[in-house]
Amino acid sequence: MAGTKITKDNKSVLYNIAKVANLLEKEKPFLKEVIRFYEKVFSLQHETDPDITKDYSDLKNKKEYPLITRKDFYIDFENSELLFKKICDLCADFEIKADTTAKIIKEYIVDKDFSFQFLAQNYLAKDLSLPETVTGNQEFNYNVFDFILYNSLKPSIVKTSKIISSYFKDQDHSGQRFCPVCASAPSLSLFSKENGSRSLVCSFCWHEWETNRLYCSFCNNSDSTTLGYVALENEKGIRADYCDKCKKYIKTIDLREYRQNIYLPLELIASIPFDMKMTEEGFKAE
Ligand SMILES: [Zn+2]
Ligand SMILES: [Zn+2]
Repeated sequence: MAGTKITKDNKSVLYNIAKVANLLEKEKPFLKEVIRFYEKVFSLQHETDPDITKDYSDLKNKKEYPLITRKDFYIDFENSELLFKKICDLCADFEIKADTTAKIIKEYIVDKDFSFQFLAQNYLAKDLSLPETVTGNQEFNYNVFDFILYNSLKPSIVKTSKIISSYFKDQDHSGQRFCPVCASAPSLSLFSKENGSRSLVCSFCWHEWETNRLYCSFCNNSDSTTLGYVALENEKGIRADYCDKCKKYIKTIDLREYRQNIYLPLELIASIPFDMKMTEEGFKAE
């Protein structure tokens, strides 16, 4: 049966997630509940492995970007639907203000026999329209719904992206402000351990691509007088790079200074103090 095996790679990722969650909890006890919740979500994603059966090899010769759009991602629906139900249950267990939406949406899918595949395909096509029976409920929260759905599809999205990006490993994408695989905006920036070169990480498919060191990835501004960064006490090896022109920021992890064990999706969540600070200062994340 598809998606029941835990691969060797996944085993080591699971081990790493647990380790990072423990370290983060020690570093930031005030985020304990949040870290534990996300640790569970990300672990669930690595407990199964989606089957990507679509052949993307014709993209090898494609010269223009992005290589695909969101709706072209192959999804292992069996794998995703199982994950979807598990994440809904998790939301109920954790009482993190997501439980009501999780319950509404799970009932909608399970009891009303609504097709998860249909919902997922609409989501990928950026059509999140839902019937009144769901959205009319005062306690339904769209962001929570988006979160649950995206995270159920994420293993397939990431695996598809890895297959596609392996076709153009040696190409130069330094001028690309958006993901060369799927055209989504970056959610994180990294300085490499080796030489401090800068990469961007896609907010949707998690593809990493090397880019120019000094410029705003949102508006292309490279004027150093309007670019800057904010560092915070107790936050080693991470900062928020901002642009005064478009008023956006992106968090940057410097892998030369950051702790050894790292799991990017958890680091993105646990760096909330930067989001609070930058929002206060009038900046926005993409
Ligand atoms: Zn992408
Ligand atoms: Zn900018």
